[in-house]
Amino acid sequence: MTTETNKTNDSASIHRRAIIVDMHADTAQRLVDENVDLSQRVADGHLDAVRAKDGALDAQFFSIWVEPQLFGGGGASAMKRADVQINAVRALAEKHPETWENATTAADVRRVAEAGKIAALMGLEGGYAIDDRLENVERYFKMGVRYMSPAWSVSTTWAGSSGDELGKTRGLNDFGKQVIREMNRLGMMVDVSHVSDKTFWDIVNTSTKPVIATHSGCRAIANVPRNLTDEMIRALAKTGGVVNVIFYPEHIEPGWSEKKRRVDAEIASRVQRASDEEKGNVAQKKLARDRVRAEEYLRRLPAVSVSRIADHIDHVVKLVGVDHVGIGSDFDGVQAVPADMKSVADLPNLTAELLRRGYSESDIEKILGGNMLRVMAEVEKK
Ligand SMILES: [Zn+2]
Repeated sequence: MTTETNKTNDSASIHRRAIIVDMHADTAQRLVDENVDLSQRVADGHLDAVRAKDGALDAQFFSIWVEPQLFGGGGASAMKRADVQINAVRALAEKHPETWENATTAADVRRVAEAGKIAALMGLEGGYAIDDRLENVERYFKMGVRYMSPAWSVSTTWAGSSGDELGKTRGLNDFGKQVIREMNRLGMMVDVSHVSDKTFWDIVNTSTKPVIATHSGCRAIANVPRNLTDEMIRALAKTGGVVNVIFYPEHIEPGWSEKKRRVDAEIASRVQRASDEEKGNVAQKKLARDRVRAEEYLRRLPAVSVSRIADHIDHVVKLVGVDHVGIGSDFDGVQAVPADMKSVADLPNLTAELLRRGYSESDIEKILGGNMLRVMAEVEKK
């Protein structure tokens, strides 16, 4: 009897056998601003080592996010904000080497997964911390950063964002194109999540390596500016890249964004009051605002299910095949999650849904991390 026939093919076993790579979580800010201990089960939020083990997560890309409104769109304070998050992620493995290991390559991820630990990787969300200086791309690469999105919701001087007025006309300027070429040279993946449509096309036309979206949805299903059109998904796949589907209801559920805007208007004064009453620093004030939002969204907005995540996966597969889709939860960066994807511990629910829809084990392996491991190996090549 071969080991093949000995394999158990229930959903939980298939899930456990896969190498699972989540391309985007904002937990690094919790490490810095709330000093959470991720080796324990954390009562709130979406990610810690205990729940990651329950969900069989093998590798987590931690987003190194510099909110420009709070820390500047460049300059010393933006760089400092990135650096403290990077140090906090690196400290995870220093404090708990039995649980975490820092990783930068696909081979690292496979080795760490084999050893039963969780690989900690990093990506820069928004290019604010490079402070308009090309040499800083290499600085962050040397610190372990392996992807960067040129802009989060605020445009940089060199790249337009999907989140502001400037982004409606701004793509990459000459410096922006140099940044992309430098990322290609170093082996840092280029992330198009949050960028403007013009920036997206400039990136795809500049990059000589596969391009990824670390946490995005399909605009054909949920029509928000930061999601990808079918044309974009086809172009991204042509580079050899991967669309990692986000779990955030606003970006996956049709109409949710409009409903959320109405709720935001209704709760604005409560949110402001929570912020004013918080005596801590700007980051703690933001946490106070987000706590009110999370509470109110849960109460007032429609519940979304994991099957909606699978709808976006299906859509990408229908357009470009199963080799160009992955997952990017945005855990700990959002104030709402699907009802059956409350934390990383619920990841098996996605595998169950994909099996129910007829995906094979090898398809599921690709979706949960295999496709991203392929892209990482490709981008690492000199
Ligand atoms: Zn984001």
